[in-house]
Amino acid sequence: MFHDRARYQSSRGYQLAPLRFSRLDDARYIATNDVGEYVVMPREELVEFISHSLPANRPTYKALKSRHFLFDEHSRVALELLALKYRTRAEQLANFTGLHIFVVTLRCDHSCAYCQVSRQAEGRLEFDMSQEHADRALDFMFRGPSPTLKVEFQGGEPLLHFERIRYIVERAKALNQVHGRDLQFVIASNLSRLTTEVLDFCREHGVLLSTSLDGPEDLHNAQRPVRGGDSHQRTLDAIRRARQALGPDAISALMTTTQASLGRVEDIIDEYVRQGFHSIFLRNLSPYGFAVRPRASRPYDVEAWVEFYKRGLAHILRINEQGYPLQEEFTAILMQKIFSPRGSNYVDLQSPAGLGIGALVYNYDGAVYASDEGRMLAEMGDFSFRLGHLSRDSYESIMTSETLLAHLSDTMPEGVPMCSDCAFLPCCGADPVFHQATLKDAVGHKAFSAFCKKQMSVLRHLIGLLEDDARARDILMGWR
Ligand code: SF4
Ligand code: SF4
Repeated sequence: MFHDRARYQSSRGYQLAPLRFSRLDDARYIATNDVGEYVVMPREELVEFISHSLPANRPTYKALKSRHFLFDEHSRVALELLALKYRTRAEQLANFTGLHIFVVTLRCDHSCAYCQVSRQAEGRLEFDMSQEHADRALDFMFRGPSPTLKVEFQGGEPLLHFERIRYIVERAKALNQVHGRDLQFVIASNLSRLTTEVLDFCREHGVLLSTSLDGPEDLHNAQRPVRGGDSHQRTLDAIRRARQALGPDAISALMTTTQASLGRVEDIIDEYVRQGFHSIFLRNLSPYGFAVRPRASRPYDVEAWVEFYKRGLAHILRINEQGYPLQEEFTAILMQKIFSPRGSNYVDLQSPAGLGIGALVYNYDGAVYASDEGRMLAEMGDFSFRLGHLSRDSYESIMTSETLLAHLSDTMPEGVPMCSDCAFLPCCGADPVFHQATLKDAVGHKAFSAFCKKQMSVLRHLIGLLEDDARARDILMGWR
């Protein structure tokens, strides 16, 4: 029900700007607004503020005023400033689809029990991307308006089809002579096929590498089986050679948390430090592919991962205090969401979700998906996020398809029950593929959502650190 504007205007000193509030802990509440500002205050002060009786000489009043939660007679340009900040945060929507994922093959030489992409055996060449589909995908990529185009090669193990990677990089660069975009290339690889030829190519074309390192040798080898049983040693050798050939920052690593990792977060982080990394992503297992097969990979609940994350973050903060810079990437994304005027480009935490407009995925078989997780879900028989096919559909028909538009309108948390009233909304997102996989509904009832539980727990913990722990705050503010 809508009321007349006058109803919201107070004769008692100040007006309220749009805001949401939620309980932070037993004593305090957090209020946030749509431009990502936040203020933490005791419940009594929140009640005073909302009922227009907060005295102007209180520090909380000044914080609320400077962060656009209230306007008084001295706030001349406050509303315009608020609108400007909101537009800045939404600006990236105009330059849509900066990430283009080419699944050049689904074949892989590893047999990880948690494999979320449902990899195929090494000899099955029918799971390779054809040149015709690569050409069509490149055409799609340059049709979008984004001035920056990141091409990510995924698998399976993409280096098993290196010839297709070579073709796509060279062709993209040739086409870019006309288009003039800022092109970046990343190969996400287990590195077992990192030959000198591949390294020379990466150096020549500025291609970066991203790999998986699950922790110390015993844990990594148990989780990532390969013929010979020496995945860890092979990965470390390849990291060393890649750094020598391409420079110290040309390779990054990711870990996946399994049941076996849960009690070993310090060991995992120490391994990253030993190997000279300055960043680590404490990534939970996602419910796709082999990861949800009974017996293949033992599941754990979200509370167990949150404890793993909290212990890991505490360990990382200690390492930073001892003088070694190490950043946790999920926390860094949330810090950008909270403090950067532009938010973050992380596709899972956007409104609307980054489906299609954050990333497009060109699968090995020519199908086009709205996200990387969407193609993983398709391997399990659920095609909810398939937008079309490179052989049959045009770029325009895919980007205006009913499927994509319906997903985008469903994935704006501002209109979703529970999210619309939640103070954590400006730092959150929709993750529709996760909800489709776990609740069989892309929006999902948030009271039953493990994504929601994870977001709330992590954000409460992070805001608590920022408020209560000056040394942690100093380190975290450097990750924005
Ligand atoms: S997780 Fe990666 S390396 Fe492991 S089997 Fe799957 S595709 Fe291969
Ligand atoms: S998913 Fe949960 S934490 Fe995120 S905005 Fe919605 S209700 Fe809040």
